[in-house]
Amino acid sequence: MPRPLFATIHLDSMQHNLAQARSCAPLAKIWAVVKADAYGHGLERALRGFASADGLALVELESAIRLRQLGWTKPILLLEGFFEAADVPMLAEHDIATAVHSIEQVKLLEYTQLYRPIDVYLKMNTGMNRLGFPPAEYAAAWQRLRAIRDVRSITHMTHFANADELEHPRLTIAEQVRRFQLGAAGLAGERSLSNSGGVLHQAELAGQLSNDWVRPGIMLYGGTPGGRSAQDFGLRPTMTLRSEVIGIQHIGPGDTVGYGSRFEADGPMTIGVVACGYADGYPRSAPHGTPVIVDGVRTTLVGRVSMDMMTVDLTPIPNARIGSKVTLWGDGLPIDDVAQAAGTIGYELMCALAPRVRVTEGRLGTDG
Ligand SMILES: *Cc1c(COP(=O)(O)O)cnc(C)c1O
Repeated sequence: MPRPLFATIHLDSMQHNLAQARSCAPLAKIWAVVKADAYGHGLERALRGFASADGLALVELESAIRLRQLGWTKPILLLEGFFEAADVPMLAEHDIATAVHSIEQVKLLEYTQLYRPIDVYLKMNTGMNRLGFPPAEYAAAWQRLRAIRDVRSITHMTHFANADELEHPRLTIAEQVRRFQLGAAGLAGERSLSNSGGVLHQAELAGQLSNDWVRPGIMLYGGTPGGRSAQDFGLRPTMTLRSEVIGIQHIGPGDTVGYGSRFEADGPMTIGVVACGYADGYPRSAPHGTPVIVDGVRTTLVGRVSMDMMTVDLTPIPNARIGSKVTLWGDGLPIDDVAQAAGTIGYELMCALAPRVRVTEGRLGTDG
């Protein structure tokens, strides 16, 4: 009998969320972002869930090659680019487009003899201060790339620091777009700026922001990049994490629960023990009060999350018993609610799903 903990991936929701991205940015082609094993959903499932995307974007070369082996024939893009000279021939061999964000990468492309041309996304640093050329150095990098015979196309690319907010006090989307336009002024080529935040706000930004290619990630997995809730944006959960009650304790006033005895009952309580812990990817930082659903009723975590188990309050669910169904996140319980309670973001929870959790597929709204 396997441990009763499993994640159900909803391919129908992935298709729905991709359609939402298309309706937000109908003029753009879509890179569905599938880095980090498709945000924990599995590369092979992403390939099916996002079959109608225009391309798949990720950061791991070996996963990009695997996408080709799995039969993906449309474009693939490496968002962080390549890391060493030996990577470059593989880009050509598997027809993988690459970001170029540093002069070291430009030099490697200049020195490598490719037997097939590749597409390049030239990255500009417009204020994120992570990867990319400053606007003032951008045109020179573009000229050098353009002189390389085997560079087939150069797309202009930047990344937003605060796309979940229209008017961030430190750095707005509008300011980053302004710098981007300055840096790329007069240079031919397609443009790619928006992540999920940019896509979801495309309607409000229509006057200032246009993309030939958008790069949504989290929204395709039913998470919000911030600002409003995923549901408000019309997105559906793509991963439901479920377990069962495997033990029950009846405690009284003054009794404590779990490691560190951090939770103390102030009256009679029923505690349910659920087979899911931090070694499954559930955040240990989730405090007392983090939401969880047992037999369809929303209740809360009590005490500390341990490696293989957590404890929940069954007092409001008198019919709960061993075997009662528990939803940790997903269908009926937004992953962002759990993330917020735990002081993190939905992205991190999805990506942290542990290898020991069994993964199945099922439509949203069924038991998987
Ligand atoms: C991860 C990533 C994205 C997707 O971001 P979301 O916030 O998940 O939509 C887009 N562009 C780049 C360069 C990325 O690294």
